Amino acid sequence: MTHSYHEGQPGYSPAQILHDGCLECAERSASRDCGIAGLDRQNFDRAWQRAAAWHREGVYDVSDAERGLLSVLWSVQLQLERIGWPIGELPRNPGGHTAQMGGF
Ligand SMILES: [Zn+2]
Repeated sequence: MTHSYHEGQPGYSPAQILHDGCLECAERSASRDCGIAGLDRQNFDRAWQRAAAWHREGVYDVSDAERGLLSVLWSVQLQLERIGWPIGELPRNPGGHTAQMGGF
């Protein structure tokens, strides 16, 4: 299955990770991992930031298709924050950060 023409779908926003009205996005959204594993690095970064922005500042163009994905990523960020990882930041140098966090 391939992605539909996202730009033509109702409620489309270029910031969305998964788009309503696209069968491929709907399939990814409905998968067990909410589509996380299928994201390339750039879109995973965008999704991570978007999940943080959604809960911290409010994002008003969240699609139904990406709601689960963003919710899961937000929940993971909350858990990471409890062990000292800042919300919205992705691990880029795990060794360095692990040392600062006392190791885990
Ligand atoms: Zn799509």
